[in-house]
Amino acid sequence: VLFRSAAADDAVDALIAEASQSRLAYEIVESLTTEVGPRLAGTEAEARARDWAVAELTRLGFDDVRVEEYTMPVWERGPLEVEILSPYPQRLVATALGGSASTPAGGVEGELAYFASFADLQAAPASGLEGKIVYVDDSMTRTQTGEGYGPAVAKRGSAWSEAQERGAVAVIIRSVGTDSHRVPHTGGMRFTDTRPGIAAVAVSAPDADQLRRIAARGETMRVRVASTTSWRDEGVSGNVIAEVRGREAPDEIVLIGAHLDSWDLGTGAIDDGSGVAIVVAAAKLIADMPQPPRRTVRVVLFGAEEVGIFGAKAYATAHEDELSDHIIAAESDFGADRIWRLRSRVGSGALDEMDALAMTVAGLGVVRGGNGAGGAPDVTPLAEAGVPILEPDQNGWDYFDLHHTPDDTFDKIDPEALAQNVAVYAALIYQIANGDVDFRAEAVAEDE
Ligand SMILES: [Zn+2]
Repeated sequence: VLFRSAAADDAVDALIAEASQSRLAYEIVESLTTEVGPRLAGTEAEARARDWAVAELTRLGFDDVRVEEYTMPVWERGPLEVEILSPYPQRLVATALGGSASTPAGGVEGELAYFASFADLQAAPASGLEGKIVYVDDSMTRTQTGEGYGPAVAKRGSAWSEAQERGAVAVIIRSVGTDSHRVPHTGGMRFTDTRPGIAAVAVSAPDADQLRRIAARGETMRVRVASTTSWRDEGVSGNVIAEVRGREAPDEIVLIGAHLDSWDLGTGAIDDGSGVAIVVAAAKLIADMPQPPRRTVRVVLFGAEEVGIFGAKAYATAHEDELSDHIIAAESDFGADRIWRLRSRVGSGALDEMDALAMTVAGLGVVRGGNGAGGAPDVTPLAEAGVPILEPDQNGWDYFDLHHTPDDTFDKIDPEALAQNVAVYAALIYQIANGDVDFRAEAVAEDE
């Protein structure tokens, strides 16, 4: 097996030891969240994040630091008011969902139509909600893997269209999150060409509980939503790319990425400043090895992930001709907690190599998962193009307490957990880049 030898094992052990006590990732995410802060896709703040990234990657000595720009539609939020008018008048803590329409001046008022679940809304008759404001409850399930997010995102993504089709004038959802704090969770809505025509907002969990309790009393509620948002058609965004040039096979690319944009409410510390810090620090530690790896390690800091993976799509298009030389791709985009499992999507002929690779990080608390990984959002276009995927899974137990809220800030990051991520990435990526395993290989049937 190519990448296994006593000398290679010693090099990996030394790299793990170095990464485990490195503060580099912690310093990087501190710098990004402090000096740039929130960085919504397509805004001047995201452009400042690109400038920050170019300066940081250049300072760290990476090869060929560059920005690849693309244009995209840009949505921004303005002032928002959500309130119960009757029977118990009070303001609610809420945030507009990405893509939400503005309400007419002064807002919209209407009777609240309560749906316990998104499935109930989908099953509602085609009419009967005219002039009403729809509320969709549904709590998200907390899990280590984050699998409660899928069903919750279906609600966030499409409650607007189900409500709008039935004549509703606005839609309110319980925030997609697992916390019990008075912070709302924003996030993108699902649409292609036709933008949402009504306002769509998420209320915090305690405010959602309030609506649930009033609804349970059987009382008719009237609510008001006043939201101002805006669209700009031709915004500029971009991917920031840097490399550790391979010494023998520089055209063979081992890609590690994260996304540079964030939602605008917090400072994007766990989503995805931590991912940026993890992959940049891991690549820097590899660059500082006594000898560069055989293959090129390419760091891609994707733009505009949150609003529809515009950066990932632009990357896959711009690099279409060299995707067959992409050996494997991984993205860190699930917070800052420890990695506990390694999944993959590689050819059957490379499974033994992948299992052996996983064993080299077992001492960091990582177990081998299955070979059905889809990859984090920004590598999905690469996976669809046949690029093998490496997916180190972080513990997501607490991730959705903070995700897309004003509370996604630097103080939530544990430097030791962050360093464990760097150690896992550095060890795995170094071995892949320093070897010559073809992760697309399919097993060859043995002759009888
Ligand atoms: Zn993210």
